[in-house]
This record gives sequence, C-alpha cells and structure tokens, in this order.
Amino acid sequence: MEGFDVVVVGAGPAGSLAARAAVEGGATTLLLDHRAELGHPVQCGEFLPSARELADLLPCPALIAAAYEVPAATVQRETRWMTCISPYGHRFRFPLEGCTVSRRAFDKALAHRAEGSGAELRYPAGVTGVHDDEVVLADGDRVRARVVVGADGPLSTVARSVGFAPPRVLFRMITATIDAPLGDGIDLYFGRDAPGGYAWVFPRAFDANVGLGVATLPRSRPLDRLLDDLVRDHGLGPVRDRTRWWVPVGPPPESLVRGRSLLAGDAANLVMATNGGGIPTAMLSGWLAGRAAAGHCRSGAPLADYDRAWRAALFRPLERAARIQRFSERIASFDPLLALGMRYIGASGLDEMMRLRWPPRLGRNS
Ligand SMILES: Cc1cc2nc3c(=O)[nH]c(=O)nc-3n(C[C@H](O)[C@H](O)[C@H](O)COP(=O)(O)OP(=O)(O)OC[C@H]3O[C@@H](n4cnc5c(N)ncnc54)[C@H](O)[C@@H]3O)c2cc1C
Repeated sequence: MEGFDVVVVGAGPAGSLAARAAVEGGATTLLLDHRAELGHPVQCGEFLPSARELADLLPCPALIAAAYEVPAATVQRETRWMTCISPYGHRFRFPLEGCTVSRRAFDKALAHRAEGSGAELRYPAGVTGVHDDEVVLADGDRVRARVVVGADGPLSTVARSVGFAPPRVLFRMITATIDAPLGDGIDLYFGRDAPGGYAWVFPRAFDANVGLGVATLPRSRPLDRLLDDLVRDHGLGPVRDRTRWWVPVGPPPESLVRGRSLLAGDAANLVMATNGGGIPTAMLSGWLAGRAAAGHCRSGAPLADYDRAWRAALFRPLERAARIQRFSERIASFDPLLALGMRYIGASGLDEMMRLRWPPRLGRNS
C-alpha cells in the first residue's frame, strides 16, 4: 500500500494551504479532491478582505503574513466599501478594503502552489472514509497516512468518519451571476430578502455575484424563490449559473484533533458567523494544521499543538462572531425591529459590529 506522512482530503483553500505547509515542513504529502475540476462549480460569494482588514479581526499578524495571500491573477475587482441595506432600503456605508476573486481560478492557484512546493495532487479522487492509518478512496484503493488533514468542506466525510460532531448550524446558501452596475463596494441586504440571514451583491470584473443564506427557509419560500424575489425587488435583472450549498456558522469547537486526524476550514466549523466568510479562516487553519502535521512527522511533536495554535489565532473572534450572529438573528426575523436597530446604531455601529466590537459604540448614519 502507498504511504505518505500527511494525506490532505480536499483541495479547497484549507486543504491546499495545509498541503503546502506540510510539504514545506518536510513531510511527504498527498492532496486529494473528488472534483473533476478544482474550484468548479463555484459555491461562493468570492469576496475576500484585505490582509490589513483581516489583521483588524484576528490577533495573529504573523500567521496572516505567512498564510493569507490572494494570487493577483485571480482578483476580479478591488473593493473599498461595504454597504448594509435595511429591509426598508436604508443604506449604511462604511470603508472595508478587499477584493472579489474568481474561486474557479483561486482554488486552482492555491492547489498548484502546493503541488509546486512538492505535494502530490490527485483529482478526481474522492475519499469515503478514514480508518486508523488508512484513507479509503472511492475507487476502493487505500493510502496509508501518519497524519490525515480533513479539509473536505461543510459536509466533511473525514469529520464524520473519525467521529467528530461539533455543534453545527448550517446556513442554506444559493449563489448566481447577474449583469449589474459595477462599483467598488459590496452590498449586504438584511431582513425580508433573507429572513434571519443575509443576501449580497458583490461586483466582479464584468458582472456580479448575487446570493443569499438563511438558517431556516420561510414557509412557501424555497431558496430559488428567495433569490428570484431579491433580484426582482431590487431591479437586479435575470440570474444565471445558480448553485446551492452550505455554510457552517455555529460557534467554533473546542478541539480539532481526533487521533491522527486534524480538521481545518469548513470541515472544522471555522466560519465567521457575522458574514459567512470562511476562506481566510480556512487558509489560516489549514496552514496551522499542515505545520502541526509536519512537526509531528519530523520530530514527534504532539498533534495537540494544532489545537493550541488555531485556538490562539481564531477561537475568540469566531466565538464572538457566533454570539453576535445569534443575537442579530433574533432581531432580524422582524423587519420593523431590524430596520429600527440598523438606523439606531447607524453605519459606524454596523462597521463596529462587522469588526466584532460588541456592543458597538453608537455613531452617526452615513
Ligand atoms: C454561497 C456561498 C457564498 C460564500 N461566500 C463567501 C465569501 O464571499 N467569502 C468567504 O470568505 N467565504 C464565503 N463562503 C464560505 C467559503 O466558501 C468557505 O468557508 C470556504 O470555501 C471553506 O474552504 P474549505 O477549504 O474549508 O472548504 P471547501 O472550499 O468547501 O473545499 C473543500 C474541498 O474538499 C473537496 N471534497 C469534499 N468532500 C470530499 C471527499 N469526500 N473526498 C475528496 N475531496 C472532497 C471538495 O471538492 C472541495 O474542493 C461562502 C459559502 C457559500 C456556500
């Protein structure tokens, strides 16, 4: 049977960063993904904050400098603003530096960078389970691993297989493409457009990404209907290329180590619940998992080092974001209260909330 120091399952942002960190740390590394084309179909809003904005949210500047890099060729549009739109159309705008990327190109670029560092990349190669030191592939083959990194997304096979069951809140998500006026800001809609959740329009190079996410579907309004209502009510035009998927927005788990398996990214429930953004935390947790896996293989360092590292970088902000999200969800299910609340805290309060400063200081609307 073939054997590797580290087998990484899933070549999304978490898995590709894990594979690169592992191989650069001296471990023989195999990176597997079940997709025929990496990054496709796109199931994402494709927005990323700048490294500076990320460092404002997370207390780990050195980790961000090491692991959070957006390949320039994958950038669609630089953005400078976020606008939050209330159920009655009031707009609250504040500065937020970031960009939209092509996830189709982004995931490929990160995976090929890991490959360029020496990881072996195989796809399509699905994994159906992990048993002790054996990773079972969909074609029946098995690969031996000293450490397994489960980076296989919100419905993680690895997590299930190793008995990992974090408290999960899965948002139902739908995303699509529209022809829309292009600007240098991203728009988030709250209230009846996505009851208890949020909807968005993010500009890309020549069109825009539109979508929404909700915890529970309102009666008689399935996801497609919510999306149709959103584009109709805001005069956004016909949609194409719809995809549906999930985002875990619950609080972060206590531990991400199970025997010889480590979990990262969506598989580990590491998403910023206030906005559903999970790419940066996937990259950072993947990097830390890969480093811990390599350290274990090289010098016998305990895999629990991974828990210490990701908790120091991510636990408190993710936990705070989940608390803010739970609070907002209660208000967000009643449009008049939500609209009033948004007017009350204004643009600067919403800005503070998105930056996880809670409760926000009150300021003026813009
Ligand atoms: C509609 C939508 C909009 C979003 N918008 C944003 C946004 O604008 N900004 C942001 O930061 N985040 C956004 N997110 C969240 C973000 O997409 C995820 O947090 C991020 O992709 C997590 O990265 P990951 O590597 O952990 O998992 P994924 O990107 O899901 O990658 C997992 C990989 O594992 C592979 N895989 C799965 N199962 C197996 C298996 N059994 N065997 C082998 N391979 C497997 C998959 O093919 C995939 O390539 C959005 C999510 C959704 C659904």
